[in-house]
This record gives sequence, structure tokens and C-alpha cells, in this order.
Amino acid sequence: MFADRVLSGMRPTGRLHLGHYHGVIKNWVQLQSEHECLFMVADWHALTTNYDDVGVIESSLWDMVIDWLAAGVDPAQATIFIQSKVPEHAELHLALSMICPLGWLERVPTYKDQIEKLSHKDLATYGFLGYPLLQAADILVYKANRVPVGEDQVPHVELTREMARRFNHLYGREPGFEDKAIASIKKLGSKKSKLYQQMRTRYQQEGDDEALDAARALLADTQNLSIGDRERLFAFLENKGRVILPEPDALLTAASRMPGLDGNKMSKSYGNTIALREAPESVSKKVRAMPTDPARVRRTDPGDPAKCPVWQLHQVYSDEATREWVVKGCTSAGIGCLDCKQPVIEGVLKEQQPMFERAQKYLDDPTLVKAIVADGCERARKIANDTMKDVREAMGLGY
Ligand code: SF4
Repeated sequence: MFADRVLSGMRPTGRLHLGHYHGVIKNWVQLQSEHECLFMVADWHALTTNYDDVGVIESSLWDMVIDWLAAGVDPAQATIFIQSKVPEHAELHLALSMICPLGWLERVPTYKDQIEKLSHKDLATYGFLGYPLLQAADILVYKANRVPVGEDQVPHVELTREMARRFNHLYGREPGFEDKAIASIKKLGSKKSKLYQQMRTRYQQEGDDEALDAARALLADTQNLSIGDRERLFAFLENKGRVILPEPDALLTAASRMPGLDGNKMSKSYGNTIALREAPESVSKKVRAMPTDPARVRRTDPGDPAKCPVWQLHQVYSDEATREWVVKGCTSAGIGCLDCKQPVIEGVLKEQQPMFERAQKYLDDPTLVKAIVADGCERARKIANDTMKDVREAMGLGY
């Protein structure tokens, strides 16, 4: 059993491209072997901005899951599920909306940014204002304690932490807390239970901070303990109310600026993408048509790689020796631009080849993908339902 649980998701709003691969999915593939991971198709989130164009959601959804699998997300290691098939997300979102001050949502920086960026859409909706709260519910319903995000998403994790704190403050005194804590202590095993009890007594009777730290370390190191039991025992140590919804930490991912075909960041809105499973002829055609340093009008004109979008792709796909060859050949007009683009084409195709191979079995038999997702939804629902039992009980709805 992993000590950490990771939750991440993606909106199904179109085909995935290599920017998604380098920016998000590669990281997921790494995380799935290190932590318990839940990867969510965020279809309700897609509705917050695409409520007037719902066709794109269903048409993108299954292809997106195949792209994840093709890119190396392994259903034997990670849980892949669809948000709307786990209604507990909506239930927790509603519950949290009862206690979320409006100002907390209005001050989320991405709210105003997105309204400006998507000015062609009417986003003066409750759903759009509330989407960071839905994200908080997504995370908290699994008691996920690690959330991989880029710098711009950190305020969303911060809101989630504030919501968890507010919830625990209001409802953390669960009935029968003491009895439940004693039951959780037993799950530590006899030796660790004894140690935990001794350190708790030392801390509570003598104010021994070292004993508190040691008890916390003992809990953190105990693998076979559920997140609920662990949080209860952390709270019991200090005689606090129980932490029903643990606060997650942002797992800051390095900003990936995967360059697109025009040198801007690869993005659907710039029309500069290479799809994750783009046909090899199309990859070749797109890269060959890429703009280069405008100074290279003729083959005999020297150029400057720093002024060329192709060079940025060499940074991603070429080794040191190839990059030296580019710099030398470009600045001396020793190579032509089509020669220079060839290693990039080969690099992209090499990266994509295993993706095509992995995708084929799912394309041949789409029921496999549906089965993976159905299985994932069931697993996700089980965890979410356990959390909601605690939440309902804490909010006086446990009847
Ligand atoms: S040789 Fe390569 S780096 Fe130089 S301008 Fe042409 S494509 Fe760009």
C-alpha cells in the first residue's frame, strides 16, 4: 500500500497533442509507479466552459483515454475513471458549497484570467465560478494528499486546503471519536500501538515535543494504514478533533513549455500542434512546412538557430551531437533547412511509435477501454463513498 494518493485529471475537449504528453502524461507515467494514482476524465469540468458545445466531450473522451493508455498510463498501476460516473464528486461539491464563502471563489486568480481569455463565451455562470470548488471536491473526496499542478494551479490547491480546514473546524468532532481512535490504534499492531500510546502520553502529560515528532514519524512510516485511520491518529495525538478531510499538498511539476510548430507553446488554440497519435506522413509534412529563421532565404544564406522554431524542437528531440551539427551547419549554411528538420521528424516518430503499438489493441477492441474505465469507476466510487459516509455523518446527514 502506498502512503501517498495522487489525483489528477484532464478535460475531454479535443484530441491530445504532444504538449499534453510532455506537460502532463509523462509525469503521470512516472507518478503511477511511485504513488497510488487516480486519473480522472474531468467531463463535468469540461461542461463548465463547454456547456453549449457538449458534442466535443463524448467524442473526445474515449480517444483521450486511449491516448493515456498509448502514452504509458498503466491500468494495472493507476485507476482511470470518469468524474461524472462517480456522483460523490457532485455531492461533496454541494456539501462544500454550503460553507464556502463567495469571496474565496471570486479571488481565485484563474477566474478573472479565464473570463478574459474566453471572452467569446458567456461564463457568468454559477458552474464556472464554482469550478475551483468542484476541483476541491475532486481532491478531497479521495483524500488525495498529492496533487500534481503547474505554478498557475497552486491557488486551486490552496483553496482546497482552506476548504478542508474549514470543514474540519466545523465538523471535526465526530461522534464516538475516542472509540474510533482506539480501534485505529489497534490496526498499528501490538508493538507500534504500545509505542504510539507511550509517546502520546509523554506528549500530553509532559509536553514532550520530541515524543510528538516521533509519534508522527511512526504514523507516517506505517504503510498498512488507511488514510482515514492515519488522520484520526494524527488528531488523537494532540487531542484535536478528527481531520475528516485531509489537506492536500501541491506536487509542483516543472513547467513544460513544449514548443509548437510555430515556436509558440504547443496549444490547440494556436493551431500549432502535433497530435499524440498523428499519422507519420502528416508529422513529416507539418515539420517540413515549419517556418525557419527568416534570414535563410536561400540555401546559401547562413542562419541563427536561436531565431528558428525548429531549433526549439531539437532541444526536445535531439542529442548533443545532433545539436552541434545543427549549430555548425546552420550558421555556416553547410546544411539546408530540410536536412535540419529530418532528425526532428525522426525523433517525433520514434517517440510516437510505441504509442501507436500500445493503442492498437484498444482500437481493435474498444470494449477493453470501456472495461478499464468501468473497473476504474468502481474502484474510485468505493473510495469516494467511504469519504462521503464520514462527511454525511459529520454534517448530520448520517441517517
Ligand atoms: S538550418 Fe535548422 S536551425 Fe537553421 S534555420 Fe534552418 S531549420 Fe532552423
